[in-house]
Amino acid sequence: MSRPDESPQAVEARAASCVLGTYAWTKFHPRDGRGAKLVDADGKVYWDLVAGIAVNALGYRHPRLVKTFRAEATDLFHVSNLFYQAAQGELAERLVTLSGLSRAFFCNSGTEANEAAIKFARLATPGRSGLIALDNSFHGRTVGSVSITGNPAYREPFEPLLPGVIFVPPNDVEALKAAVDGTTSAVFLEPIQGEGGIVPLSPEFLRTARELCDATGAVLVFDEIQCGLGRTGHLFAFQASGVVPDVVTMAKPLGGGLPLGAVLTGPRMDGLVKPGHHGTTFGGNPVACRLGLAVLDELVEGGLVAKVAETGEWFGRKLSGLKKRNKAVVDVRGAGLIRGIELDREAGPVQKRLLEKGFVVGTARKTVIRLLPPYVIPKAALSAFLIALEETLKEGAA
Ligand SMILES: *Cc1c(COP(=O)(O)O)cnc(C)c1O
Repeated sequence: MSRPDESPQAVEARAASCVLGTYAWTKFHPRDGRGAKLVDADGKVYWDLVAGIAVNALGYRHPRLVKTFRAEATDLFHVSNLFYQAAQGELAERLVTLSGLSRAFFCNSGTEANEAAIKFARLATPGRSGLIALDNSFHGRTVGSVSITGNPAYREPFEPLLPGVIFVPPNDVEALKAAVDGTTSAVFLEPIQGEGGIVPLSPEFLRTARELCDATGAVLVFDEIQCGLGRTGHLFAFQASGVVPDVVTMAKPLGGGLPLGAVLTGPRMDGLVKPGHHGTTFGGNPVACRLGLAVLDELVEGGLVAKVAETGEWFGRKLSGLKKRNKAVVDVRGAGLIRGIELDREAGPVQKRLLEKGFVVGTARKTVIRLLPPYVIPKAALSAFLIALEETLKEGAA
């Protein structure tokens, strides 16, 4: 990167003294990468099974992204959203066609997409402000999104937040029925909860949410920021269930590594959002949108979503086998290449040991190993990971 020769110690020291302490940094210095591999400052090579938290879906230095970015380097970096900008319209057209929804709004991040969705839902439900979300949900860090995030540790230091939010346990159909009524503006669901420990919502729960929103006029929002854009083996996670939401929020992999978020709105929202209701200076930046188009080309025409489905199915079987033979594995959950392995012990020390063995994995909650590998991950890397995990569990890392 810009100073490849700088020592990890110098980088750490500067961060420790000057960067605000929002992150508990792992002692890991990725400096290069290709495909699903990362290389650290010492030249050690790792398999990356978390992809910058679901951002680097195409892996590192993907030739198509590099080519697109180079071409954009000599073009305009920014054009005001008050003027026309071709790439944004092209990306909107692609997303609308692929999702079957009607329109797209672009922003820079996941949390901004959810903020916009909260506002758009209010336009669709005048006089109502109730929001339904799930325990252990994650929708982002800004005030609106954190208000609907079902993790008290993220919310409590900042209360009071948005009033009128009700949290329901995931997959508890009766609790959902009891919560949604004529005061509800929107129901926010992640079809597969990410931060919450890779928890897929059941088709019955999703269908019930749709029926309740139809009956009460509330807006159904699916947050596909982590589980969308091919990760489940379907381009949109909602396509697996057949339940079509009114609004879909997306971000992480959309900009190919550049900040880009989107809100897709369906017919329920048509004509509601007018000039002045919402906006952003940077959202839908032309460079990010061109990368977004390249990402979609690879996912759809390039066959990467189909590859996720195939690799994911194979990996799912391997994970079931792991659970059957290893008592330390309490549960395995997920779809495609979004997978959680729930352990009988804390996941943090296991994650640390796996990093030493050359595997970058994530965690969720206290006991879940979270896997969000780049879609280009070879099966051999996933097999090697499973062997390393079992070794680590046998060593008794805890
Ligand atoms: C990461 C994430 C967000 C927040 O996205 P940011 O880009 O970090 O603001 C929201 N929802 C889900 C499901 C996420 O995984």
